[in-house]
Formats: sequence, C-alpha cells, structure tokens
Amino acid sequence: MRQPLIAGNWKMNGTRASAEALIQGVIAGSTGMNQADIAVCVPFVFLELSQRLLSGASIHLGAQNVCTEASGAYTGEISATMLNEFGCRYVICGHSERRDYYGETDVIVAKKLAMVMSAGMTPILCVGETLEQREQGFMETVIARQIDAIIAANGIASFAQLEIAYEPVWAIGTGKTATPEQAQEVHAFIRTRLSERDAAIGATVRILYGGSMKPSNAAELLAMPDIDGGLIGGASLVADDFLAICQAG
Ligand code: PGA
Repeated sequence: MRQPLIAGNWKMNGTRASAEALIQGVIAGSTGMNQADIAVCVPFVFLELSQRLLSGASIHLGAQNVCTEASGAYTGEISATMLNEFGCRYVICGHSERRDYYGETDVIVAKKLAMVMSAGMTPILCVGETLEQREQGFMETVIARQIDAIIAANGIASFAQLEIAYEPVWAIGTGKTATPEQAQEVHAFIRTRLSERDAAIGATVRILYGGSMKPSNAAELLAMPDIDGGLIGGASLVADDFLAICQAG
C-alpha cells in the first residue's frame, strides 16, 4: 500500500507572521492525525523559521526550487546542500510555473532532481499538459516526454527516490479541477509507463495530483486507485482547508 502524501506548495505567498501562524495552525490541527504523510513547501526565506517551528512535529519541510549546480558563482541561487541543512525533506522540481515563466527545460529539471537526490532529499517531480496540448490530443505525448527525459538522464532507478505530481496546467490556480476520472487516466498512464521499465518501481512510486485540489473535491480524487496524494497550492494557505485535505488522505 502506498501511504498518501499531502504536500502544501505555498508558492510566493505570506509574511513572516502569516507563515508562522500557518505552520502553527497546521501543527496544532494535525496532531493525532496519522492517515497521510504531510509536508509544507515554503519560500526559501521561511525555511529557518519553519524548521524551528516544525522541530518535533511529524510534518515534513520542503522547498519549491533548487539550483542545478552544487556551489559557486550562481548569484541568487540556492543549492541542494543548503536546503538539506535547513531540514528540507522534499524539493519541488519542474513545477509548470518554473517551466513556463523561467524557461526550465526537461534537461534542467533532470539536473535539479539529481542534485536533490545526491543531497539525500526527495524531489517532487511535476509533470502536466496545458489545455491546448490536451485539446490537440497531445496529453500523453507531453507527459511521456517529461517522464522519459528523467529516465534518460537519471535512470529508471531514480524513480525509487522521488515523488511525482501530475498537475494539469489548466487546473492550477484556476478553480478548474480535473475530474477524478481524468486525473486517474493520466496517473495510470504514468504508472504503466514506469512499470514497463521496472514493475517494482511502477507499483511503489507515489503519484500526487495537483490543480485546484480543495476540501470539497479531495476525497473523491484521493479515492482513485492511482492517486496517492496531493500537491496543494491555494488551499494550503488556509490551515483548516489544508488540514481537511490531509484528513481526506
Ligand atoms: P493550486 O496549485 O492548488 O492553487 O491549483 C497547485 C500547484 O500549483 O502546485
């Protein structure tokens, strides 16, 4: 059985004070709740505060990006070793906003994954198609390309050390959620593609759904056989909403 993982992706939101209140709210509300693994992926500048607040809690900490390089003259970048030092267990890699707004290619995403894994953390690899790609019938081609690029660069074995998040771009922050059946279809496609290379990895890799997941739709999405959790944007900024999704996991 794959234990569900519910990960919050705060994106570029919050202040020091609101971050503190949100972490404290999540800690308080999740005490005694043990269905799902829970993580919060916070902005870099809140990592130290979050690490301190989360010490002793069973909620994992994550970051939203990492540099492709280990160290050196890369102004403004943050390395995997730095993230590890601040208690990160997870690092989101290849989010569609990074691919779209910051030009992250599959090659860059593969390098980021390798850095995260070599620092002993777990990448959350995001994949997903745009509305245009879906409507033109390229959904499977796009997802296959995103997955195969990682296999080519890092090997199928790397999928034993990462989480996948399927996030249809048209569902992110739009309020339009994929139906449970639409999401399940893509999750099964990804799992089958990995199983063809390595049956054990296909059976064990966690595939999270992301894109307007909220308390009102979480249970039906999480009930699908190949949906193993959620990557939660907007709803992770409200402790009660995030906790309700964790409860559904
Ligand atoms: P959303 O974002 O839940 O606000 O749609 C999800 C994500 O981008 O990870």
